[in-house]
Amino acid sequence: MSRDTLVKRQFGHRARLALSPSGVRAVDDQAHAARTLWNLLHAWWQMMPKEKRTLQHADAAIRQALKDIDFLAVLPAQAAQAVLKTYFRAWQNCWEHRADAPNFKGRIRTVMSVDIPQGRDLNIVRVHRRWGQVNIPKMGRVRFRWTKDLPVGKRATAENRITGARLIKDALGWHIAFRVQALEVEPGPHQGPDVGIDVGITVPLACSNGETYEHGAWLTPKEKARLLHLEQRAARRKQRRRPGERTSGRLHRTYDRIAGLRAKAKRRALDWQHKATTTIARTYNAVVVEALTITNMVKSARGTIEAPGKNVAQKSGLNRAISGEAWGRTVTMLTYKTARHGGTLVKVPAPNTSRRCSACGFTTPGSRESQAVFVCRNPDCGWSGNADHNAARNVLHLYRMGLALTPAAGRAVVRRAQRVKPATAR
Ligand SMILES: [Zn+2]
Repeated sequence: MSRDTLVKRQFGHRARLALSPSGVRAVDDQAHAARTLWNLLHAWWQMMPKEKRTLQHADAAIRQALKDIDFLAVLPAQAAQAVLKTYFRAWQNCWEHRADAPNFKGRIRTVMSVDIPQGRDLNIVRVHRRWGQVNIPKMGRVRFRWTKDLPVGKRATAENRITGARLIKDALGWHIAFRVQALEVEPGPHQGPDVGIDVGITVPLACSNGETYEHGAWLTPKEKARLLHLEQRAARRKQRRRPGERTSGRLHRTYDRIAGLRAKAKRRALDWQHKATTTIARTYNAVVVEALTITNMVKSARGTIEAPGKNVAQKSGLNRAISGEAWGRTVTMLTYKTARHGGTLVKVPAPNTSRRCSACGFTTPGSRESQAVFVCRNPDCGWSGNADHNAARNVLHLYRMGLALTPAAGRAVVRRAQRVKPATAR
């Protein structure tokens, strides 16, 4: 098997940390210190004349700040360096038009995180079938859920190892995201068939061969009722607040519970998406999807003041379904998973795929009888079937006709629209 070519692959793995209440407070403090450091750095940047905005000057300023400000001392030196690096990287991204200019990070809206840039500081061991242990600087040993075989200890080599990590807090608590580097055998060409996939209205994913990928509701009726109750309570409390009054502890707790339930739904959706996309990438060679611009579809429902949208309620219901399914995330997952299995993800132009008959190829008015049923109105054809299945067959047909837009192999690059900033932000 020496003829196999090896390819480097980098990926992340996220695991839940088991922290004690005091541990949570300690990591919270580190994250707040990291955020404060960012803000100090940003203030420093804005004060400095252009020629003095260098890494060396910034580094000196940071060292001084760490000495002068007591509560910054909880932040490990490596994490402080990571803040500096990320800040300069943010400007680089801005100058290359990938992102907006960096700004101050507010206490509420910022995702709490702390970097552990060096893999060797982590000292990971597996202590149990389900638990691993990791070293967190200035904290000590912390256990985390072991759900994936990580290259640690004797299994770690120069090519297969953990190169760093980041601690991230979400509604479910603190997590650790490991950065893993691995050397893998490059997959040979995929032997499976091609498939067209449609984002269904009646089913989440409909394939051109009639297969479907379905799921239940993300929240149980009881959880849904609880979420609604909490949202109403939060709205009521917010309404009763006098102007300028601080958000009460009780309202904060309600917000936390709402966030917890939403995070639960998202985690279940992610789990389903991962399973479905892995199966698809294993089974099929070319996976063909419509090139949808979801943001436009969601925006266009409401219309503008001059030209208000028609059927806003129905359309926004559809939009909510589209956003809920997070089609964009499914496509991203399919992109890297198909590449990993030797297949490709292909996008084809979207117009009319749901209105054209996949049997005769004609777009006859009134063919789509309902959301679920397609009956061809062409008198010579008369094909009928599931509407989503019909669209998926059209999608595959477009690919076979050579109408592929971009073979989106490899990594999807997020690129923001180029915008002119107001003068004050420059
Ligand atoms: Zn037909």
